[in-house]
Amino acid sequence: DIGIDASSTWFEIGRPEVPALAAAAHKYSRGYVAVLAGEMSGAASLAASAAARSGAGYVRVIGDGLFQGLPASVVVGGKLGLLADDGRIGSVLIGPGVGRGAGAKALLQAALDCGKPLVLDADALNELGANPTGMSDAILTPHAGEFARLFPGLDGTKPEMTLQAARNSGAIVVSKGPDTLVASPDGRLGFAPPAPSWLASAGTGDVLAGIISALRARGMDAFDAACAGVWIHGRAAELAGPLMIADDLISELPAVLA
Ligand code: AMP
Ligand code: MG
Repeated sequence: DIGIDASSTWFEIGRPEVPALAAAAHKYSRGYVAVLAGEMSGAASLAASAAARSGAGYVRVIGDGLFQGLPASVVVGGKLGLLADDGRIGSVLIGPGVGRGAGAKALLQAALDCGKPLVLDADALNELGANPTGMSDAILTPHAGEFARLFPGLDGTKPEMTLQAARNSGAIVVSKGPDTLVASPDGRLGFAPPAPSWLASAGTGDVLAGIISALRARGMDAFDAACAGVWIHGRAAELAGPLMIADDLISELPAVLA
């Protein structure tokens, strides 16, 4: 008994259908991901690299970190105003590396105001404040600690609380951990297939956020992109093996997506 009510439907997340590349594609139509970053450049670099390796045609990092280890093909720089102005942007990722300073607040506000599909992770979730509402067209990817800060006062089983979080916020909620769930405000609840426990290491969540952002920018619906991202991330971890580090997941993405 997973404790969810009759208005919900649950299923195990299966192998996803990822959109094919159109013959007439160009780099922007393949998916343009904008990553808003602060000063902790490692996390943003992991997310942006993962987005680039998940089939996005164009990835831009906006922020003032050093962004070591980024592929040279990832564009760095640009003004925040670009988010609202550039109609080619397919998704905006904020969280990995944004930190908790005044800068993070301004970045989050720019993301919330830009009208683009959003993926919010890490410190963007802490910055968002408790019990957000009206988050339609956003995907939230909290781990257990972030979930508890974001949705205090919920109780019940993890499936019940994740569904409630999605219904209350209006967002797709990816509740991460050894038993990752993806919930939609419409009552759909996806259970991730088992993923290796060696995912429990620094940076793996940043990679997941990057994968989901790319799938969203490539035109997948928010719920499908979140489910597919979780599935792909777990399979990449299986291929990367027990001594993997988060960076290694990115190298496995082409094989998983192929
Ligand atoms: P984060 O905590 O943001 O770095 O994200 C960690 C990632 O690793 C998420 O995708 C989790 O679902 C996954 N993860 C963490 N611990 C485990 C575990 N014990 N088994 C499977 N996946 C895990
Ligand atoms: Mg994280």
